[in-house]
Amino acid sequence: SPQHTQDRSREELANDDDVALLPPFVNEPDTDPALPANQRWAADAIARASQPGWLEAQSLPEKISGDRIDELVAQARAAAEPWAARPAVERARILYRAADILAARRGHLVSIAAAEVGKSVAQTDPEISEAIDFARYYAHSALQIEQVEQARFVPDRLVLITPPWNFPLAIPAGGTFAALAAGAAVIHKPSNHTPHCSMAILDALWEAGVPRDVLYGVYPFEGADGKRLVSHDGVDRVILTGASETAAMFRSWKPDLAINAETSGKNALVVTPSADRDLAVADLVTSAFGHAGQKCSAASLGILVGSVYESERFRRQLVDAAASMVVDWPSSLAATVGPLTEAPSEKLQRALTTLEPGESWLLEPRQLDDTGLLWSPGIKDGVKPGSFFHLTEVFGPVLGLMEASDLEEAISLQNQVDFGLTGGIHSLEPAEVSAWLDQVQVGNAYVNRGITGAIVQRQSFGGWKQSSVGLGSKAGGPNYVMLFGRWEDDTVGA
Ligand code: GLU
Repeated sequence: SPQHTQDRSREELANDDDVALLPPFVNEPDTDPALPANQRWAADAIARASQPGWLEAQSLPEKISGDRIDELVAQARAAAEPWAARPAVERARILYRAADILAARRGHLVSIAAAEVGKSVAQTDPEISEAIDFARYYAHSALQIEQVEQARFVPDRLVLITPPWNFPLAIPAGGTFAALAAGAAVIHKPSNHTPHCSMAILDALWEAGVPRDVLYGVYPFEGADGKRLVSHDGVDRVILTGASETAAMFRSWKPDLAINAETSGKNALVVTPSADRDLAVADLVTSAFGHAGQKCSAASLGILVGSVYESERFRRQLVDAAASMVVDWPSSLAATVGPLTEAPSEKLQRALTTLEPGESWLLEPRQLDDTGLLWSPGIKDGVKPGSFFHLTEVFGPVLGLMEASDLEEAISLQNQVDFGLTGGIHSLEPAEVSAWLDQVQVGNAYVNRGITGAIVQRQSFGGWKQSSVGLGSKAGGPNYVMLFGRWEDDTVGA
């Protein structure tokens, strides 16, 4: 285990039942890469992941199809009743135990994400902290919901969780933990790219004490089976993190579907002349190119105001910072930008290989090996308002620069995008910051910070406009668990 994690024995974890109240919520720290012991730990995790056959030896979800789907739904709904009837503290303790198991298994989780989708240690490690945070945070939410006296919370019976592959641990964990905390049963359908990552989360939950019949991992489901499960009358809610198109497809299958989806983003970071430019450069490149830009939260646009856009020095610094990022497979521990998980989509291919009118490459992306997955970062200058790159999510390692004559124009360019997930401003002028905060249409508005990597409780995560479907509350925030049910007033009569 990395140095900060206490390695707790199975017996210790099992004997946690006597803890009546939960420890207060604190964020789990990431692994400090500067400690030599942690560097050895990371090297071991990656070496394990590269052993032939290692990944295939890890557990996979159950394969189900056809009529078995109906059976599973019925079984889960029946099991949900006693699960919801338990005192919330029991479900909360189980989640705390699952968090401890994940913490004790950090190296294993790093290996799985590296082997399954080539995610680097540096990108996976904070995701594991986030998954641990979700478990503990939603455990507290379950207790809080139970303490409400004016009304009774009636959880969903059965929730279907359909996570993405880009955060293959934290996002599958978050939805599943929240639904279980609320008292629902869960059918978890991993992304087809990351079933082993999902299973590592589910294994921790079963070991922590979630009954087998309350939680199921199923995989793959395609075509008719997918439609059958998503639109099943016995499924009360679907949680999706993925493309807007997928949310629309689910809704076309069942128009009255209860769906909560965090969908696409096309996010911008604004830099004004008052900014600390060195910080702005660093935050732009990490937000744009971390995990090769495969984040809904990634910075895809840098909107440079006035003298920042005109500054050759700023451009040079940005290009130098991006060009010095190490692009490689996770077997190289120095890698800061890893591979794409799937071959570039048509949109990404267009962004990587073509310039629209008025654009020029400040740094042209290059394909680095014959897998087609490893691309060096690209920066295009002169992105025009209303153009393809201004408005389209590409989900890859390309950053486009736009010119704004003043802050008002920058905000207007930012708000012209249909999505509204994350956004940022680098400015040391308080009046600019408050004007921006007042007007920007994004769920997560970050000031003088990168725009990826929301921290549970401190920066709950979720967007508006086309970035969200049916989400009134944000992941890792105070009302999230309440999504999974409804409130009933016990008063009878007038
Ligand atoms: N929660 C992640 C972040 O704040 C992004 C999740 C996503 O890409 O869907 O960076």
